[in-house]
Amino acid sequence: MGKPTGFQEFNRELPAKVPVAERVKNYNEFVGLYSDEKLNQQSARCMNCGIPFCHSGCPLGNIIPEFNDAVYRKNWQEAYHILSSTNNFPEFTGRICPAPCESACVLGINKPAVVIEEIEKHIIEIAYANNMVKPTAPVIKTGKTVAVVGSGPAGLAAAAQLAKAGHAVTVYERDEFPGGLLRYGIPDFKLEKWVVERRIKVMEEDGVVFKCNTEVGKDIAADELVRNFDAVVLAGGSTIPRDLNIPGREFKGIHFAMDFLKQQNKRVSNSEIKGEDILATDKDVIVIGGGDTGSDCVGTSNRQGARSIKQFEVMFKPGDSRPSSMPWPNFPGAAVLKTTSSHEEGADRFWSVNTKEFLGDADGNLRALKVVDIEWELDFLGRPVKFKELEGTERELPAQRVFLAMGFVHPQFDGMLESLGVELDERKNVKAKEGVYRTNISKVFVAGDMRRGQSLVVWAISEGRETARKVDEFLMGHSILESKDGVNEFEQAY
Ligand SMILES: Cc1cc2nc3c(=O)[nH]c(=O)nc-3n(C[C@H](O)[C@H](O)[C@H](O)COP(=O)(O)OP(=O)(O)OC[C@H]3O[C@@H](n4cnc5c(N)ncnc54)[C@H](O)[C@@H]3O)c2cc1C
Repeated sequence: MGKPTGFQEFNRELPAKVPVAERVKNYNEFVGLYSDEKLNQQSARCMNCGIPFCHSGCPLGNIIPEFNDAVYRKNWQEAYHILSSTNNFPEFTGRICPAPCESACVLGINKPAVVIEEIEKHIIEIAYANNMVKPTAPVIKTGKTVAVVGSGPAGLAAAAQLAKAGHAVTVYERDEFPGGLLRYGIPDFKLEKWVVERRIKVMEEDGVVFKCNTEVGKDIAADELVRNFDAVVLAGGSTIPRDLNIPGREFKGIHFAMDFLKQQNKRVSNSEIKGEDILATDKDVIVIGGGDTGSDCVGTSNRQGARSIKQFEVMFKPGDSRPSSMPWPNFPGAAVLKTTSSHEEGADRFWSVNTKEFLGDADGNLRALKVVDIEWELDFLGRPVKFKELEGTERELPAQRVFLAMGFVHPQFDGMLESLGVELDERKNVKAKEGVYRTNISKVFVAGDMRRGQSLVVWAISEGRETARKVDEFLMGHSILESKDGVNEFEQAY
């Protein structure tokens, strides 16, 4: 524990952000870094409590009080060693994680939680700046080969861990560049793409081979991978978006959020955009879906110069603090009202509103939405059961662009999964129990959103790591890789 009285002396402070009027002019990240003094003070707020609930709040089991202490003592090598022993990519989670660890911080019971996420970002940026981030693969290899399908955070984490165990890893990615949603979903203003490229370079130095523009199940047969590799990890994400099949869905101007966001990320990277441009410029935009993807559509629409932006959520407005069903140290997620940096930039938000119809003009272009306010009936635990429309609230709202951001239902089955014949669970995700990560097909494992359904980057990294351990055990009979439930490097080293 850095400073026993730190939590009493210093308040939680976040690094300064570029003012809204400036940051909406470009797609750059806008959250600054702490001064040395501020970083020291923020790490001093960690209480090194008897039972650090933050460990279990973090899906990676990050060893948080220990790295906070090392940061306070400015021992960057130690801080980096502790952090990287549980998290392959703190530069991603330090920027975009909703930080379930902070929801579980003991200080958070009666004061604002420690800024764990920001501290994580500072450790990794200092580590990169001081040349501490180095390849970890052993010189003597195992002679085993593994194919990883998909280069999102789950596939990358699995690949990084398997390379560290000495296996020869090839990552297949259907997109032009690796990164999955880190690259093509999450906007640059939250995660600039040089951050992803920097990590890919380290992984290539570690011997990981990336084969992009290669869709498994189309450009290369899935069973060819099964034949040619000693193990295969499926990490293709959850990519089928939830649609809104109401009258008028066919009008021009209604797009899935990912089609819009992916194009803009490609535009920022000067990549080729195939098909028509999807732009919000000078349009009245309505984003349907109140989550993170919807919020990213708001931030992108503002940067493209939309005339007006509304964001709809069919659920009721959550409260500003935890409901009784989500007591500390649970991660309350959507049960607490979240105002993102994109919301700060401007959007009218609506809750308990249902879209009944898309309305178009004679040329087939979207011109408005027919919407109605609703009221939810809750069960005895406060969970929504069904809704009724509120009389007299039906109205038309002008819109020439709608972005559907209502989540993803399951992975793509056609192609790779179908040809492999993998078993699906009742939600149509690839079936494999947590802690096992093995499908019904011999040698084939699964990780990330493809197994657990749409989730978070931190969970994808966790799944990638855990799957890699299972693959290593399968190949070698035991594993030298750390697990969040078992031995980890930190315990071994200290
Ligand atoms: C717009 C958006 C914003 C988000 N923002 C956040 C956020 O701020 N914080 C957060 O924690 N989470 C966020 N998420 C969720 C997070 O991005 C995902 O949970 C995470 O990326 C899942 O990782 P994954 O590796 O399982 O899959 P993905 O990242 O989806 O990667 C899967 C990869 O597999 C490739 N692939 C699929 N099939 C094949 C095939 N047959 N052959 C070759 N390649 C294939 C895909 O092209 C893709 O690159 C966001 C999601 C979206 C959509």
